[in-house]
Amino acid sequence: MPSPTTVPSTFDTHLLALPLYEDHHRELAQRLVTWCAEQREVLAGAGRPETVGRRILRALGDGGWLAFLDGGPDDYRALCLAREALAYADDLADYAFSIQALSATPLRRFGTDEQRRRYLPGLAAGTLCGAFAVSEEAAGSDVASIGLAARETASGWLLNGAKAWIANAGIADVYTVIARTGPGPGAFGLSAFLVPSDTPGLRVEPVPMIAPRALGHLVFDDCALPPEALLGARGGGYPIAMEVLGRFRMTVGAAALGFARRAADAALARSRERPMQGGKLFDLPTVRAAFAEMEVKLDAAALLVARSAWEIDRGSPRYARHSSVAKLYATEAAQQIVDSAVQVFGAAGLVHDSLLERLYRQIRSLRIYEGSSEVQRAIIAAAIDPDRTPRGAS
Ligand SMILES: Cc1cc2nc3c(=O)[nH]c(=O)nc-3n(C[C@H](O)[C@H](O)[C@H](O)COP(=O)(O)OP(=O)(O)OC[C@H]3O[C@@H](n4cnc5c(N)ncnc54)[C@H](O)[C@@H]3O)c2cc1C
Repeated sequence: MPSPTTVPSTFDTHLLALPLYEDHHRELAQRLVTWCAEQREVLAGAGRPETVGRRILRALGDGGWLAFLDGGPDDYRALCLAREALAYADDLADYAFSIQALSATPLRRFGTDEQRRRYLPGLAAGTLCGAFAVSEEAAGSDVASIGLAARETASGWLLNGAKAWIANAGIADVYTVIARTGPGPGAFGLSAFLVPSDTPGLRVEPVPMIAPRALGHLVFDDCALPPEALLGARGGGYPIAMEVLGRFRMTVGAAALGFARRAADAALARSRERPMQGGKLFDLPTVRAAFAEMEVKLDAAALLVARSAWEIDRGSPRYARHSSVAKLYATEAAQQIVDSAVQVFGAAGLVHDSLLERLYRQIRSLRIYEGSSEVQRAIIAAAIDPDRTPRGAS
């Protein structure tokens, strides 16, 4: 087994040394941590989240971190390590990276040569910004009930309706949009479209969130698209959305791990410095127990994320179920870890715009987007084989 690498805190070096990872992953982890440290000023830059988001996207492109989007191999362990490192460093860095990767994935997997040529080089360079628009006000968890209408016309398609809660709305150059093209009920009759942001009839309504970021609703009002805007097969929109979301769930778990590690590290440093009852806060048994709980959760989350990423990289269909397990556990555990870290800080953890206060706001959405915790539980329960030999039976 390879020895632990010298990657500083962000990652658990002993976990990276497991055979679930290869040497190029360990080297990648090292480079990620170094890059994040070098880019500290860009990541911490002041300004509106929209401006900062585009600036970080450009830096990610210049750093080569998005290059894989244009012709690179699928490597979900690398994707998870990138999200973990970026989330540890900065919320908007993870946001910029993950939404770009999420929006490029349907193009990479289902785009024509022409569509890929048009968009992927810019997305990989960070000069073009992407977005993936599935949700609607009345169709969040229940993707099959999407109502945005795409009617076929003599010159292409006409879109009417709205999308809700779309990451990168307002700064994206191109939206991958799932709309209803057929009369088919539910999941049938949905198709995917590539919609440039300057298409007449498309309007963005920004929505301020508890953790500031470019996000908003999209309104389509007689938004006309050419025939070649269709992405993948007509009627293939539901499988495209489900496949992309299924693949990315484990990466949400990885981001949760990054936020949680940052909170736990900050709380540990604080507890070792803070004088308490003649010693340090960390000397108190109940505080030590809190850190033990955090450690167990971090270990379990990291192993679950690594398992599902390793499975998808080697082509095992079991990744789908385990991607949900990883997302559910890691995001729920991260919420608890950040909360425990705030508790360790006491009032200092509640100061507006302090690190802990920001992490407390930033971690919340991960239990909701790309399939809420309740939806993950439903997916996992459905995947449990009812014919499995009951435990204890011979
Ligand atoms: C920060 C952020 C970024 C986002 N980015 C995007 C994006 O880029 N693109 C995009 O398309 N969408 C995006 N979303 C939307 C996100 O995918 C939806 O919020 C999510 O799917 C949940 O939908 P909803 O908010 O409508 O909640 P609802 O679906 O209304 O759910 C409300 C509650 O009901 C529960 N519930 C729903 N169904 C079930 C069930 N079957 N069993 C048990 N409980 C259930 C949910 O778990 C939840 O607790 C984003 C959301 C956030 C917060």
